[in-house]
Amino acid sequence: MIKLERISKSFGRNQVLNQIDLTVAKGEVVVILGPSGSGKTTLLRCVNYLEKPSGGAISIGDFKLDCSHARKKDIHQLRQKTAMVFQQYNLFRHKTALENVMEGLLIVKKLPKEQAREKSKALLEKVGLGGKLDAYPSQLSGGQQQRVGIARALALEPEVILFDEPTSALDPELVGEVLAVIRKIAKEGITMIVVTHEMGFARDVANHVVFMDGGVIVEEGTPAEVFNHPREERTKQFLKRIT
Ligand code: ATP
Repeated sequence: MIKLERISKSFGRNQVLNQIDLTVAKGEVVVILGPSGSGKTTLLRCVNYLEKPSGGAISIGDFKLDCSHARKKDIHQLRQKTAMVFQQYNLFRHKTALENVMEGLLIVKKLPKEQAREKSKALLEKVGLGGKLDAYPSQLSGGQQQRVGIARALALEPEVILFDEPTSALDPELVGEVLAVIRKIAKEGITMIVVTHEMGFARDVANHVVFMDGGVIVEEGTPAEVFNHPREERTKQFLKRIT
């Protein structure tokens, strides 16, 4: 289980997150929705300390990190338990698809090279890229690059995968193939927190939907609750605008 307690974040005087509480059960897919600037990406980045929260606590399983006393060792441990899939893929340009996936296994997991290679091959096959092992990112479409990003995240066997608008940099015709891969791995019971504007995906795949605005969680519930019977006016207005 992942538990965020009173997570706050300010950039200078701009308070972007205000005491966010969120619990994600093991195997659950949580989708975070909200207007631009509401703090969705910042919240996700706080979960693995790409942004340092101004306050609060993050728990993953038995591990708990108090953000006001986090030591390097704690942050390292937190990062070992999380993996991120970025909007812009963030692959190493000078490494092949296979090498990109192997990297974390060699450096973070310290696997022997042959074992890292076999595991990475299997993961690239799983995301439909068994034929592209030796391709460089520049030789792959955006959708293929993002699938390498997903294989790289899976390789680390994290307790949670954090997806930061994984399809928003893609041409519309490539969105489906990436969502299909995310759907497939969601079915395997991998815990995920997904920031996305893809409402169809949120409806189908999420167990829990969170609507944020102005740095707070305005409303949360099952997709049916949030999409079909939103309680809050801000949620209703947002859904009206985007559907
Ligand atoms: P979008 O849907 O447009 O990606 P979002 O809900 O993910 O938006 P965030 O990217 O988390 O929103 O941004 C929330 C607020 O924090 C915005 O006002 C943004 O300008 C500000 N912000 C984000 N990152 C930084 C930063 N590194 N420095 C200063 N301000 C930042």
